[in-house]
Amino acid sequence: MDARRRKILIGAALGLGTALLRPTLGRAQQPGLGRDRLVLLGTKGGPRVTSYAPTPSSNLIVYRNVPYVIDAGYGVTFKLVEAGLPLPALRYIFITHHHSDHNLELGPLVYNAWATGLRSSIDAYGPAGIQELLDAYWQSERFDIDTRIADEGRPDLRKLVSAHTYAQGPVFASEDVKVTALRNVHPPIVESYALKFEFGGKTIVFSGDTTYFPPLAEFAKGADVLVHEVMYGPALEALVQKNPNAATLMAHLKASHTLAEDVGRIAAAAEVKMLVLNHFVPGDDKSVTPEVWTAAVRKTFAGNIVVGRDLLEVAL
Ligand SMILES: [Zn+2]
Ligand SMILES: [Zn+2]
Repeated sequence: MDARRRKILIGAALGLGTALLRPTLGRAQQPGLGRDRLVLLGTKGGPRVTSYAPTPSSNLIVYRNVPYVIDAGYGVTFKLVEAGLPLPALRYIFITHHHSDHNLELGPLVYNAWATGLRSSIDAYGPAGIQELLDAYWQSERFDIDTRIADEGRPDLRKLVSAHTYAQGPVFASEDVKVTALRNVHPPIVESYALKFEFGGKTIVFSGDTTYFPPLAEFAKGADVLVHEVMYGPALEALVQKNPNAATLMAHLKASHTLAEDVGRIAAAAEVKMLVLNHFVPGDDKSVTPEVWTAAVRKTFAGNIVVGRDLLEVAL
């Protein structure tokens, strides 16, 4: 499949010109990573794998030649390759919460970067448990990693990757980018977060997985882009009608995720410039078309709605 054909270019809608691009700082061997952009890598809600696309959650921001990966659901490595990101350029990873549709490929992703030539450091940020997640992965691939270090002269991957635990508040700050977390509502998980990225006068907010959560509107106030999870109510009701045992699942979904109309309410209250939908539930029901998603959100939000899909690009 031709990745370029499948990309939708939203255009330079946000007006951050190339004048802000500058040479790479401190990573001399890193190739150019292209223009500043947001790329949705995986847009499906939940861990079920039913097709090549959409895959579970992951996103990429490239700003000033540095990549920031947000969530690492299954499929993230290949989606990064398709998005044109050289894997050894991987630098920062942020996990919003420890559901597997957001973290299953964290270990394999950094491994794949290493197998592809990574020699520089990676910092991985996540709620409590991020260190254990990586440690367990190192244990599972200890034989291979030790073998390749001795046999192929590779650096020790375990020393290149640092895990950082975050909670509500400041997560990360550099000269270029500031990242802040807001705890959202995603039972039964307590440590689940929305993340705000601020850079060059621009703001991108990711809702993470959350039920309707009005404080998110304040957190995302005036954002250039709000990437929000979304659930389509009528399709869930159809699911329950087909399968009486799905009632428990239905209760979980409503307590932990946000219906399309409520996503619109958050975007309207936050007065965001662009609402990008992702983490679709259902994620693989062909009858719920982009027009259906848009119409459901349009009831409560008059602004710019973009129905996300894997490899969709937003120029920054
Ligand atoms: Zn999820
Ligand atoms: Zn979740």
